[in-house]
Amino acid sequence: MTLQVSIPAKAILELNSQILELDFPARCSRCNMPNAPFFETHPLHYRADLMPNRNVAHRYRINRSFSLRLPLCETCYRASFIEDPESFSADATPLGKVARVRSACIKIAAGIALVGFILLMDIVPVNTIPFLWLYVILTGVGLLGIVFGATVLMSKRLRSTLPGSDYNIRYPRAIVYEAIETGKPAPNKTAVFLRIRNETWARECAEKHQWKIDSTDSPSVKENEK
Ligand SMILES: [Zn+2]
Repeated sequence: MTLQVSIPAKAILELNSQILELDFPARCSRCNMPNAPFFETHPLHYRADLMPNRNVAHRYRINRSFSLRLPLCETCYRASFIEDPESFSADATPLGKVARVRSACIKIAAGIALVGFILLMDIVPVNTIPFLWLYVILTGVGLLGIVFGATVLMSKRLRSTLPGSDYNIRYPRAIVYEAIETGKPAPNKTAVFLRIRNETWARECAEKHQWKIDSTDSPSVKENEK
């Protein structure tokens, strides 16, 4: 069963850093392993209290970008790279470094392809080499292909280092999303919804912080989804 922990606005507004670390219970949130020095990261952006009379660009008085982190053991950490390498970009770990290089290469490749399209549209007159735009686009696309190919190879290698038949990520990656409030949020109004399959972990975490917890089958949670 999936449980939904409702994290109130108070917890987000009182944050002193860019990270909301849910380090209790101190065991892996995916397989319950007691040693969990790594984490699963979810980047979030909480907005509330919309400024009136700004119909074109919506501006909010409360505008907070932060990451929610859940504890992971080393094996689940490595396994989660296969699912979502992007979420590793801020990590101070060797896999975090790989994710940053990967993300930089994707940006460079997209930039090169964009230059190719600009040349194709003839906005900047460059007539020195025929079909220059095509070579530039192919370079960008080729670089993207190399990056994605390398990611697939790396995931394959990581998968082979995981303990074989006796290892199975027990629970999937949590689903986390933030609310957007047009009004001023009451301290107890839910700002972040955390959906997690590890029931014992979720219950202990919610109990410690005194946060609301529901089953995703409950009528109130279903009502929220509408
Ligand atoms: Zn684990």
